[in-house]
Amino acid sequence: MSSREQAVDAVRTLLAYLEDDTEREGLSNTPRRVIDSWDEIFSGYEGDAAAVLESTFNSEDYDGIVLLRDIEFNSTCEHHLQPFNGRAHVAYIPIKRIVGISKLARLVDLHARRLQNQERITKDVADDIEQHLSPLGAAVIIEARHGCMMCRGVRKQNAVMTTSAMRGVFFDKAEARTELMQLIRSTPLSN
Ligand SMILES: [Zn+2]
Repeated sequence: MSSREQAVDAVRTLLAYLEDDTEREGLSNTPRRVIDSWDEIFSGYEGDAAAVLESTFNSEDYDGIVLLRDIEFNSTCEHHLQPFNGRAHVAYIPIKRIVGISKLARLVDLHARRLQNQERITKDVADDIEQHLSPLGAAVIIEARHGCMMCRGVRKQNAVMTTSAMRGVFFDKAEARTELMQLIRSTPLSN
C-alpha cells in the first residue's frame, strides 16, 4: 500500500500528464484535495457489515416484507475510476430479528464507497443481510447510471443498468418477488 504522501505525489504526476504547470494557483493544492476527497468517496474500506448489522431487535412476530427503497448512492467504477450512481432497493423478511432501518442504507454505502462494480455491490449487500440477519429472504435491486458510459465509450446519457440479487424466499417464490416489485413501484409518499 502507498502512503498518503505517495498518493498525493501520484496525483501530481497525473496532472503533469495533462499540463506542464501543475503549480499554478488552481492546481497547486489539487493533489491534496483529490486525496482528501478520496477519504470520503472510499470510506467504505473502513468498517464492516457485521458492525453495521450487529444491533438487532425482536421482530415481535412481524413476518412481512421490510423494504427500504430509493436509497441513493454514489460509487466508483473500478475499471475507469468514473462515478456511477443511482438508487438501491433493499428488502428482507425477518424471522426473529429486525435491524434499524437506517442500517440498510449504511450497508449500501459501506459497499458503494469502494472501487466497485454494480454487480458486486448488489450481491454483497444481499449476502451480508442473509449472513447477519438470517432472514426468510433478502432482496437487493440496484439501478444506476455509469459515468464511464456517459462521458466516454458509447456515450449514452440515459441508459440505466439494473441488477438484482434474490435470496431465500425471494429466490424460491414468484409470489414474494411479485409483492416486492409492487411495493417498489407503489406511489411514493407525497410531502
Ligand atoms: Zn467503468
